[in-house]
Parts: sequence; structure tokens; C-alpha cells
Amino acid sequence: MRQVINFNPGPAVLPQSVLQQAAAAVLDLDGAGMSVLEISHRARAFEAIYEAAHEDLLQLMGLDAGTYSVLFLGGGASLQFFSVPRNLLPPDGVAAYVDTGVWSQKAVEQARRVGRAEVVGSSASEKYARLPEVSPIPAAAAYLHITTNNTIEGTQFHQTPETGAVPLVADMSSDFLATDRDFTRFALMYAGAQKNIGPAGVTIVVIRRSLLDACREDVPEMLSYRVHEKARSVYNTPPVFGVYVVGLVCRWIMEQGGVAGVAAANRRKAELVYGALDAHPDVYEPTVTVPAHRSLVNITFRLRDSFRESEFLDGARERHMVGLRGHRAVGGFRASMYNAFEEAWAERFADYLHAFARL
Ligand code: PMP
Repeated sequence: MRQVINFNPGPAVLPQSVLQQAAAAVLDLDGAGMSVLEISHRARAFEAIYEAAHEDLLQLMGLDAGTYSVLFLGGGASLQFFSVPRNLLPPDGVAAYVDTGVWSQKAVEQARRVGRAEVVGSSASEKYARLPEVSPIPAAAAYLHITTNNTIEGTQFHQTPETGAVPLVADMSSDFLATDRDFTRFALMYAGAQKNIGPAGVTIVVIRRSLLDACREDVPEMLSYRVHEKARSVYNTPPVFGVYVVGLVCRWIMEQGGVAGVAAANRRKAELVYGALDAHPDVYEPTVTVPAHRSLVNITFRLRDSFRESEFLDGARERHMVGLRGHRAVGGFRASMYNAFEEAWAERFADYLHAFARL
């Protein structure tokens, strides 16, 4: 049994069974006489790890390998802020972005280092406390970029915007494989693994093959989707251990009933916690102003009486709850409850929210 209830926003909690398998593989990978940290990325053992992770990820997403490819890269989602426009935005083109918070702002900034990026919806004037209306996307846009879940602000797209013929690109860093979506609607999805599906250090890019064909020719090799895809993610040394753990987490998600299974559990956990917050409106103030825009995995709230903040954290610590402090841009508290966050923990947290409110 774990001692700590881990609300860390990422890197974050991983399934206990995955940690046990990974720990064993650090000593010896399936009887190979070598640690998973010691195998060559060109060896058959890694090829098998890569192939299984590639196949399982696509299967979980309901995508087929003839239409989509998965890249396992380094550099974090932050590198993708630049790689996406560098690959997809032609010199005379325009890209459209929905601005929903700190991370999408960074994506816009990086796109503007490459070319024209037009913001077609922003909730900046409302401090990102809700999702914005999206205005019509320029028909000639190379793509529309959204951030499906706003880790810091606690909002989430529960409906996928209609983009017509314009390819839809999404930063899914904080709800990747945590929310049931029709992934076929997206032309490119990227995510750092360190929240829902693995350790820090590996970034996943899922790209439609027809979009690969449309990528720019003049991209430096290390940023080029085509180069990485052709090399099956071993153009250079990939984050081997990260890919291995992502593969284990994919298997674990399958055991939970696939993405639908973990998404249903995530909904139940979120309902418990929002239910407790909403039961005491005189004590708690959820920071997201439109309930339909609330994130299921990053629940942000403040205390009406900010003088009680340290008392709230002290009480949480006594109950072995860590990682609850909100991001400095929003303040207050944030309960990050990704795939591996246990339902019993959400119950304990809801109990604590009720108990604190009654003090
Ligand atoms: N996008 C989102 C939505 C995030 O939550 C984060 C990390 N918190 C990032 C991008 C940046 O990811 P990385 O640290 O992997 O570059």
C-alpha cells in the first residue's frame, strides 16, 4: 500500500504494478541478463518494446497503423510548440491557434518564430477561467491548434471543435489517453508522457500519415517528423526507458478497459471532488466559471477565505496528501488526478473537503 496520496501535476503518479515491473526490468529485462537501462536502442529487445508500444497505443486510440504513426521523441511537449509549425506551416502560410492558457500561449509564441499564427479564440481577458468561443478558422490555415486540457487553468475541451478540411492539431499533454475522444478527428496529437502514461523524458507524437506527406522538406533532421518516422524513432538514441514504461502503462490501460475504462474512472473521481467543492460554495470557489468547461484531471479551486490556505495544506499533509498547491499563475489549489490516481484517494480527498468545510 502506498503511503502518500500524490496530486502532483506532472511528473505524476504511475500505477503501482507498472512501477514494480519497471523496477524489476531495471535489474534484468525479461531474463536478458541486462538492465532495460543497458540495452542498445538498435537491439532486437528495444525493437520489440517499440513495436509493442506503437501497436498498443494506436489500438487504445482506435487508430490504424496504415493511417497514423507514433513517434517517441525527446524534448518535451515544449519542443513540439516549435516542431509543429516548423514542419507544418509553409513560409507564406498561416496557422490558427486557440488560446486557452499558459501552455497554448507558449505554443503561439513559438509558431510566430516560424511564421504567421492567428489566434481565433482567446479567453485571456477572462484570465482563462473558461474556454473561449472559436471564431471561423481561415480556410487556408495550415492547421488549427488547441490544447485539449489546460493543466494550469483547469479547463478542458469536452467537445472537439469542427475544423472542416483544416487539419486539427492538439497538445494533449495532460489528458492524453485519460479522456475518451474520437482521435480520428485529429491530424496530429502530442503529449509529454509524464502525466498520464509514463515518466518524464519521452514525448509522444501521433501523426496522420497523409500529414507526414505534407510536411515541409526543409526541416532540420532532429525536428523533422518525416526523419523520425522513417527511422522508426531511432534516428538518434530515443528515451529507451521512457518508451518501455509507456508500453507498460498501455498494457495497464487495456486491463482497465481501455481509454473508455480509465476515462470513466476519471469522471467518477472528478465528480466526487467537484461534488464536494460545490456542496460548500461558502468555503470553496472553483476557479473555472463554466461547469461544462471543467477539467476532469486538473481540478482548480480557491478558498473564499484565503487566510485559511495554510490550514488547508496542513490538514492535507496530515492525511498524506501532497502536490495540491495551485500553479502560481492561478493561485489557490489544484488537484491533479490523472489515470493512475486511485479512486479511493479521490474519496478520501472528498471526505477531507467536507470535513475542512465543517471546521
Ligand atoms: N503543454 C501542457 C498542456 C502541459 O501541461 C505541459 C507541462 N506541464 C507542457 C505543454 C510542457 O510540457 P514539457 O514540460 O514536457 O515540455
